Order: sequence, then C-alpha cells, then structure tokens
Amino acid sequence: MSADQGAGHGAGHEAGHGAGHEAGLLVVGSVNADLVVRVPRHPRPGETVLGGDLAVHPGGKGANQAVAAARLGAQVAFAGRVGSDAHGSMLVDGLRRDGVDVSLVGTEPGPSGVALITVDGRGENAITVSPGANGRLGPDAAEALEPALRAAAVVSLQLEIPHETVAEIMRRCGRAGTRVVLNLSPGPWAAPTDVWRLCDPLVVNEHEALDAAARPGDGTAESALAPVDRARRIMRGTHAVDARPRSLVLTLGAAGAICIDGDGEPAHVPAPAVEAVDTTGAGDAFTGALAWRLACGDSLLDAVRYAVRAGAAAVTAEGAQPSYPTPDRLPLL
Ligand code: ATP
Repeated sequence: MSADQGAGHGAGHEAGHGAGHEAGLLVVGSVNADLVVRVPRHPRPGETVLGGDLAVHPGGKGANQAVAAARLGAQVAFAGRVGSDAHGSMLVDGLRRDGVDVSLVGTEPGPSGVALITVDGRGENAITVSPGANGRLGPDAAEALEPALRAAAVVSLQLEIPHETVAEIMRRCGRAGTRVVLNLSPGPWAAPTDVWRLCDPLVVNEHEALDAAARPGDGTAESALAPVDRARRIMRGTHAVDARPRSLVLTLGAAGAICIDGDGEPAHVPAPAVEAVDTTGAGDAFTGALAWRLACGDSLLDAVRYAVRAGAAAVTAEGAQPSYPTPDRLPLL
C-alpha cells in the first residue's frame, strides 16, 4: 500500500524501493510539513496580522536527520507515520527523492504532522506543532520494526513521537545489541529513564542538558555549571543509578560540541568558523551525520569531528533540509 493509497485504511506501509531492514542507519521519528509565514510582528492573542506568502517545507526532526545523512551519502531508512492528507504524500516523496528508504513509513487516517511557523521581521520564530500522525506511532509499532531494528548498525531516535514508543524501541535495540543514538529533543524526557543506559550516545544541546543534568533535591543550580561539568554530571547518572548513558554528546552551537565516551575524559571539538545565516535544523544535521558515521564504524570522537562540519554547513543557508550539505559543501575543521 502506498502512502497515498493508505487514506482511510489505517496504517499501511509504503511500498518503496529497497528494504528498510537492510539499511545501515535507521532513523525512527517524526515527519512534519513546516508551514512558514513571514510577518512584520507576531500577533497578540485575539489579533490578526497580515503576513507574506505561505511556504511549505518538509521537516520534522526524524525526517531531517534521515535527509541530512542521505545527503552525505548514507544508506538510511526512515520509519514513521504520515497522514492520509496531501502533506503525507508530499513528505514521503520528498524523503524518497533524497534517497531515503521509505519502506517503513506508514500512513494513518487523518492529518500529517504540521509545524505552524511565523517568522517576524527580526527573524524570531513562533512555532506551534500539531503532531498529527506522528502522535499515533504507538509502542505497538515497535514489534513490526523488530527485523529492521535488528539489522541496523545504528538506530537514531528523537522525541517528536510518543516517548513510550521511543523507550520500547530502545529496549528492543538493547536486546538485539543494536547501537542507539537518542537526541533528547524536544525535551524533557517523559518516560522511564532506565533506557538511558542504552544511549550510545545521548545527544543534547545546552538547553536540553539542563533538564538531563537535573538531580532532584540536589540544590545545585544547573545553569551555574559550565557545560563540561553538566556533561560530567549526566555521565555520572542523574535520576537513578542506572540512568547513565554509555556516552554523551553536548552540542554548543558555534562553539562545537563536547563528547564523553564511557569513563573517558570529556573532549571538546570546536566547530568550523562559518557565517551563520539561519541555525534552523542545525542540531538535526549534526545528529544525522553523527549517527551515520557511527554506523560506518567511526569512533565517537571521529564521528563528532565529522558532525560539527555538517552542523556548521547547515547554518550557512536558510531553512532546515534545504541547507543540508552534500560532502563537497562540508567546511574543513
Ligand atoms: P537547532 O535547534 O538550531 O537545530 P540545536 O540547539 O539542537 O540546534 P546547536 O548546539 O545549536 O544545536 O548546534 C548543533 C551543531 O551545529 C553544533 O554542535 C555545531 O556543530 C553546529 N553549529 C550550530 N551553530 C553554529 C554556528 N553558528 N557556527 C558553526 N557551527 C554551528
């Protein structure tokens, strides 16, 4: 059943080319239509503001990661849900055009995920996300993904689908011995933290690191800690003794990233100096590139060294997916 044919028939699977379970990297997550309108200023409650023409872009953290990896040459499959509306087929077609294996994309009756984005004259965003079909990717979907989870070298996850589904997929990866990359975005995490011990690595930005490092009753102001100390704290275990990730990557925007592998010392990897035009989706470009290089067998440090180049390239052009680089566009470290 194709994504279009799935209308009104429950979750169908996209009859794409290639088999998802053969991919080196499997991204499980969200796919959204980003509806963007530029406005002179954001409306106040009850007010109407006239804006510019509507622009519709493919987005969603999961789809962004898959496209970022595919542009760089990865063999990558994406598993998720689109709706039975026109956005659904547009989103699946876009992934396929970028070379992403869409055989594990199902169609749910009803709307696709949508992000309503207004951008004001100062470039500030106001975003409302309607998860749509992404919200219907329940934990029961994990069983059908089992062969793909087993066959993948790396499974990459984010938090725009139900957290219980993310946790269930991680548990299955843990049993199968498949490496898991979890991007804690958008946080905070709202499922049991025992699965964090399976993260290799847990990927957080500075804001998400505050949540991840919080230790109830501890009294230390997380925001007062330097990023490297926040990273160390997450690696010591936070909510429970068994909540320590196997490894950690903390992204720092223009300052690059810090990584800690197991009991090792933190390593800081600076980002290439570039002229930033639009940082939208930089984190997804970073994580997609990171997960792919890990699937290729790179060490965590080498994968981070590659990922900072992908993240930097993504800030040099407008938008998320349109800004994602091919290898020839990667700045040097
Ligand atoms: P976003 O929410 O904008 O997608 P994020 O907050 O998840 O991003 P960041 O830490 O801002 O993540 O950026 C991710 C990576 O992108 C950084 O580690 C870095 O490699 C790259 N990057 C981001 N901003 C810049 C910049 N101004 N110059 C160079 N590289 C950047």
